Amino acid sequence: MKNPLDDFGCLVFDDRAMRERLPRETYTALQRTIREGKSIDPSIAGIVANAMKDWAIEKGVTHYTHWFQPMTGITAEKHDSFLSPYADGDIIMKFSGKELIQGEPDASSFPSGGLRATFEARGYTAWDPTSYAFIKEGTLCIPTAFCSYDGQALDMKTPLLRSMESINRQALRVLRLLGDTETERVITTTGAEQEYFLLDKEMYKKRRDLVFCGRTLFGAKPAKGQELEDHYFGAIRPRVQAFMRELNHELWKLGVLAKTEHNETSPSQHELAPIFTTTNIAVDHNQLTMEMMKKVAEKHDLVCLLHEKPFAWVNGSGKHNNWSLATDQGENLLDPGDNPAENMRFLLFLAAIIAAVDEYQDLLRIAAASAGNDHRLGASEAPPAIISIYLGSELTSVLEAMECGSACHPSVREMQSLANTLPAFAKDTTDRNRTSPFAFTGNKFEFRMPGSSASVATPNIIINTIVAEKLSYFADCLEQEEDVAKALPRLICETVKDHQRILFNGNNYSEEWVQEAARRGLLNLETTVDALPYFTAPKNISLFEKQQVFSEDEVRSRYEILLENYKKTLHIEALTMLEMAKTQIFPATSDFAGRLAENIAKKRAVCQAACKAEEKLVLRLSNLTDKLAEKIANLEAALAQVNAEETNVLSLAKAYRDKVKAAMKELRAIADEIEPLVAKEAWPFPTYSDLLFSV
Ligand code: ADP
Ligand code: MG
Repeated sequence: MKNPLDDFGCLVFDDRAMRERLPRETYTALQRTIREGKSIDPSIAGIVANAMKDWAIEKGVTHYTHWFQPMTGITAEKHDSFLSPYADGDIIMKFSGKELIQGEPDASSFPSGGLRATFEARGYTAWDPTSYAFIKEGTLCIPTAFCSYDGQALDMKTPLLRSMESINRQALRVLRLLGDTETERVITTTGAEQEYFLLDKEMYKKRRDLVFCGRTLFGAKPAKGQELEDHYFGAIRPRVQAFMRELNHELWKLGVLAKTEHNETSPSQHELAPIFTTTNIAVDHNQLTMEMMKKVAEKHDLVCLLHEKPFAWVNGSGKHNNWSLATDQGENLLDPGDNPAENMRFLLFLAAIIAAVDEYQDLLRIAAASAGNDHRLGASEAPPAIISIYLGSELTSVLEAMECGSACHPSVREMQSLANTLPAFAKDTTDRNRTSPFAFTGNKFEFRMPGSSASVATPNIIINTIVAEKLSYFADCLEQEEDVAKALPRLICETVKDHQRILFNGNNYSEEWVQEAARRGLLNLETTVDALPYFTAPKNISLFEKQQVFSEDEVRSRYEILLENYKKTLHIEALTMLEMAKTQIFPATSDFAGRLAENIAKKRAVCQAACKAEEKLVLRLSNLTDKLAEKIANLEAALAQVNAEETNVLSLAKAYRDKVKAAMKELRAIADEIEPLVAKEAWPFPTYSDLLFSV
């Protein structure tokens, strides 16, 4: 049998393909551009474009597209063919340097948050040579950044690349001060673990809430949920196994390093983890992974749900953003080494991260904010909305020892052996804490708050920028010092002391932590609408401007887009609920009660049976139907009221959260009370038990 890994990267114009197909000088020049982050020389672009085209045509490709990531959270593409008219009416296949470097899609239908009036609809896409071109469904896809006519970012990639530049600049300053003369570039690395649900396609199609909103808006608690915890890491069923096999194969062809797969906590829930890579590529790969998950699922008559909370009563889905810093010398700057207490470079970067997370808690919270993720955060299944850092006992004691000025903590790594027959293993510098939003996990940080459907660009933009800011502050301080080596421990200690409050190794799901965090003065921004206004706080705007990641206009536009998005999501959900309640649940309940009433009449006519149980049920269902109608009317009224009263985007979003969401909750409660009372075959759509155990 053929080894699936033989196909690895076969659809990617990667380093191997470039080396094979580009003249040596072009290859070297392109590599230099990529490595040094310089802009591309137009003369080499033509040669690269031509080689890319020939490579793609050999694989049966006729079209190309600039593949970009507008603020919709998903990717966009507009296909053009290579066809080009030639002299005497001949047609040739052509792809020029200009076509590779720049595209001009009409930008008017993408969210811009007021950055671009529709009359100046022109947007530009610009080739990102740091992410490889690839073939998807017979089209050559060129990863690009997307901006407006006057260069304002309209996408995720532009600010991500800027933030990577910014952290590179500041980390290099710090490394030079520490005596490192070798490193020429510092990159950030990301591994995004992706959670998702798989459902049977036929069942899915029967539920408008799933089709329109990606999550269930109704559904009584099933008899079995995740109580037994028998799904987590359980044996994978054949249908899911077949899906995963094909998904892996497709992803490998695209050069995505899909590595780990397992069942997650909730029934029907699974996870895929790739091997980490440069953040920019990891973000592109995560987008491709989400797209492929949906496509491959279709082929298996399944549907892949990436929503943060498809089902009440069981866990929702997140995306763990594993993040670190690496030098071009191949060193991980967050590797504590064998003796963290003496590893000043590690401790300095660690201190920068601690300070950054504390000072910019609000931005990290915003990085995970969406209507969907509001259902998860703080619901004892995902970290709370409160940001804190978990360091684990060893690092905490290293920092504690430094702080009180005592000698460095001895920290030889223990070896443990489970049984004589098993090999001894080195204990990690940290144990696991699955409740922490921002946990140190051995040689990287794991940001566990982001939602499953969101682009990982956002959390990485924020982490890169805030850490860059702290590194630049450290560099400023150290540049003033005559003896850097002597100044280092002091700087580290002071920083950690000033930001103590952000460190928490305990259980983040507990009520005590909420109290304790309040005492420490940590932010607890429970909903998206609470968090978003912090985006435009003066300290944050000056941060983004100073680190050259966003202009003030760009921050404000993103703020508007996110708020709008929140409101629109709730609006669609409310309308979908109304439709299902009015056209499905209400009639089904009424019909079923009517059928019972007919049965009563028939039984009484035959034998004067009392039919007490039926009578009681008819009465109960009739009362509930009345209540259902009342709640439907309330939700309609709430929608009309908030839209009539509120005009400002923030107050409108708040009104949706406070009034519309509350009315939705009440409507759902009544419907969920009715569902278990109605005969299975009379219920208008599949129930939780049907859905969760359908695959
Ligand atoms: P878990 O969090 O489930 O225990 P692992 O520790 O194996 O799993 O890793 C989780 C993710 O972290 C993987 O995607 C892995 O590639 C990624 N990862 C590992 N090292 C780094 C690093 N230096 N930078 C970024 N991500 C990393
Ligand atoms: Mg993890």
